[in-house]
Amino acid sequence: MKPTHIEHIGIAVKSLDESIPFYEKILGLKCYGFEEVRDQKVKTAFFIVGQTKIELLESTSQEGPIGKFLEKKGQGIHHIAFAMEHVGQALKEAEEKGVKLIDNTPRKGAEGLNIGFLHPKATHGVLIEFCGKK
Ligand code: ZN
Repeated sequence: MKPTHIEHIGIAVKSLDESIPFYEKILGLKCYGFEEVRDQKVKTAFFIVGQTKIELLESTSQEGPIGKFLEKKGQGIHHIAFAMEHVGQALKEAEEKGVKLIDNTPRKGAEGLNIGFLHPKATHGVLIEFCGKK
């Protein structure tokens, strides 16, 4: 298993409307897409920097993962997503190496990509996502 690049960085924000202007007016990026991922109880906004996306995440429910994160830690970096050739295989390989997983098999994330999370207790405090077309 070897990630090809950082696919995206997920950032939890209180409000997309309030945070998008920073990325557009200060950093000069352009928000190119919005998507609601019901499964994750989030609304997302995307920017791209080189090969890497910035994924802003606004919670649609206090019970969702981002809602809980915001309550506990406030706004900030939520996860880092590594691009993998084959998400299912990469998850399996991590598990075989003794890494605790959140997702044993891939599920559908934003932009129709397969995604799967490793457990932050197994990754020294960083929530790591694998992300890819397969
Ligand atoms: Zn993500």
